[in-house]
Amino acid sequence: MLLERQSLALLEKALRELEAGFELPMLSHDYPYEEMEKVLLTVAQRMRDNYPYFHPLYAGQMLKPPHPLARAAYMLAMWINPNNHALDGGRASSAMEKEVVRDLAAMFGWGAHLGHLTGGGTMANLEALWVSGQLQPGKFVVASEFAHYTHQRISGVLQLPFRKVAGNARGEMDLVALELLLEEGKVGTVVVTLGATGTGAIDPLADVLQLQKRYGFRIHVDAAYGGYFGLADNLTPEARRHFDHISQADSIVIDPHKHGLQPYGCGCVLFKDPAVSKFYLHDSPYTYYSSSDIHLGEISLECSRPGAAAVGLWATHQLLPPVKGGVFAADMSACRNAALALYERLKADSRFITFLEPQLDIVIWALPGQSTSEMSAAANRYFHEAEDRHLYLSLFKYPAKYLANWGIDVPVDSEYLTCLRSCLMKPEHGDWLEMIWGKMLGGVTTT
Ligand SMILES: *Cc1c(COP(=O)(O)O)cnc(C)c1O
Repeated sequence: MLLERQSLALLEKALRELEAGFELPMLSHDYPYEEMEKVLLTVAQRMRDNYPYFHPLYAGQMLKPPHPLARAAYMLAMWINPNNHALDGGRASSAMEKEVVRDLAAMFGWGAHLGHLTGGGTMANLEALWVSGQLQPGKFVVASEFAHYTHQRISGVLQLPFRKVAGNARGEMDLVALELLLEEGKVGTVVVTLGATGTGAIDPLADVLQLQKRYGFRIHVDAAYGGYFGLADNLTPEARRHFDHISQADSIVIDPHKHGLQPYGCGCVLFKDPAVSKFYLHDSPYTYYSSSDIHLGEISLECSRPGAAAVGLWATHQLLPPVKGGVFAADMSACRNAALALYERLKADSRFITFLEPQLDIVIWALPGQSTSEMSAAANRYFHEAEDRHLYLSLFKYPAKYLANWGIDVPVDSEYLTCLRSCLMKPEHGDWLEMIWGKMLGGVTTT
């Protein structure tokens, strides 16, 4: 069987349990089930036109299947369809949201905090930068050239001036370049990425904190993808050093829908200082807050939000708490181990070119060629040939100017070198490595 189904029986049981809690006159449901079946089967056929994200041979983009429990809990919540804007729209799911947000804050070492779930990392980053802008109007937001592309766009939306900080060959923010910008005295916020989306690189948070003492600015940590790796027990000492400083950030973003086993629509923004809630004040006559308990809509830019996202994450936290030493933490370590194992094989094989050692669970490699454009063309071909063998990879563009740093002296005739990229985000990727490796070798000529 390819698609898990046993959780459907659990869902059926849970629906009965939910139903038993309402003492109301019965309803008859006369929907056109025959027509619905036809439509639904057509949907199933249409959905075949996807990569098999649920399968370990999908080892390309940052896509991780939701846990069956998260999926079932989310679906269960759909029969109520709570809206976590206000307690009137979702009392139970709002309480669950506060609990999961507290769990995530605790994972980063925070007790007191302000935070909530969001539609995703972009929305969460937008809120963090919006608060930064409220505190320091007109000051610059700066982020590394390898930071998520949305920071620049978000700054545009917020009408905050933005500057890119140069990176280094490892894909991290360059501290010398950052300090040069700081010396100009106009920087209000430094975005520090712990786990860059392209390569998994870790910006030097601990050192940025030192600069903060001298220059004074807010630190926003974008850990949308990398945040859960703080739980892993196999980071490099350098990565560990930066993750261990995360509690000193002013705001943090993490995406439970990236590594946290959730369906899409689940990001999270956290602020260290609960007092920033003052920026969210509004007195709309349409929002009918019915009690003095905190309604999540009072501390969130978005109005309606899926309570189901909180329910899915809450269920997941009961089974797999995001704490060190637990099963979930071991799964994060396993993802990194799988990436390291693949990297070692690539490194030992002259048919592949490696230079970036995986910091988290993303592996990057290139193929040989007479120039960067030829190497890029080879990577593009390989990507499609791998797909024909049912191995699903992704591509990454690495700035060709940094190749010399690695002693790769090939004629540079393109701005970027297209590399192959594999996100080994599934805990079972380690067990599938032999199969993945076999399929990888299928595409290179043996010499
Ligand atoms: C994915 C990602 C984002 C954007 O988050 P979405 O959930 O896709 O909106 C931002 N920053 C980083 C580092 C990411 O990996």
